[in-house]
Amino acid sequence: MQVHFWGTRGSIPASLDADSIRHKVKAALEIAAQKGFSSKSDIDAFIDNELPFWAKGTYGTNTSCVEIRDGDDFILCDAGSGLRDFGNYAVRTYGKKSPTEFHILISHLHWDHIQGFPFFIPAFMEGTRITVYGCHKDMYQAFSVQQSTPFFPIEYKNLGAEIRFIELVPDETYDINGFKVTAKEQNHPGKSYGYRIEKGAKVVVYSTDSEHKSESEEDSGHFVDFFRRADLLIFDAQYSLADASTVKADWGHSNNFIGVELAQQAGVKHLCLFHNEPASSDENLDKFLLDTQRLASLLTEDTALQISIARDGMIIEV
Ligand SMILES: [Zn+2]
Ligand SMILES: [Zn+2]
Repeated sequence: MQVHFWGTRGSIPASLDADSIRHKVKAALEIAAQKGFSSKSDIDAFIDNELPFWAKGTYGTNTSCVEIRDGDDFILCDAGSGLRDFGNYAVRTYGKKSPTEFHILISHLHWDHIQGFPFFIPAFMEGTRITVYGCHKDMYQAFSVQQSTPFFPIEYKNLGAEIRFIELVPDETYDINGFKVTAKEQNHPGKSYGYRIEKGAKVVVYSTDSEHKSESEEDSGHFVDFFRRADLLIFDAQYSLADASTVKADWGHSNNFIGVELAQQAGVKHLCLFHNEPASSDENLDKFLLDTQRLASLLTEDTALQISIARDGMIIEV
């Protein structure tokens, strides 16, 4: 399977401002000043190999949207603002005359997880079929209200696509476009649902907007089973341990520390930190990843767990 991250920010899109770009340029020039470049390929090599990620790139601005693909079959997790970029890509790839089918799993109906839908170009095209799956009863209402007067100029009822909503029962396993999908209830204001997605021998778990509390062993046990031997666990790690246990306790998100603990207990191969804090700069997110990797090596001598942090545009092969 291939997992393509189209939106990775938590809560709200987070744009870069001019000061942030200047900070990146200055850092790059300071590092470059010690070098002599004799060719353009020297410059490319310098950028690729010597600049830290935060100085040459960005984790991105879009809210949650992840595509899980196996050959021509794919499903999407959440319809945050990243769905807009995915839709534009789909139109470029399939062309306007090729009706196609989309399957979207929705974790919950908070705005950052559905706000991309009014900008999803295939939804405007006749002949497109879109099926939205989730465990919340009011999915249709949320999608239609966000796309109604006075919030949006084009009413939901005027969309060209045929759109269906299918309510899933947590802990039941479904076949969705050739993927085995099981939803699990998570601790979040208004509830959210994680998805365990299996194809052949491969397992991806998409678990965002989920608050795990270190002291709750019963809760941890259920989730260790849900995450068991996942090849990739996409995990809500919006906060640091310090924030999660003090000012941001009960806000509905988890920290990197408990992500590492649960992933190690469940025998996960690759933990991907997700739902990045919108207030974190690229430099902070680079450091957050390094701190998390250091922490994992302190918790156990077993270094099998790979840890990364999601960014818009990233693709992970599973
Ligand atoms: Zn969210
Ligand atoms: Zn939420």
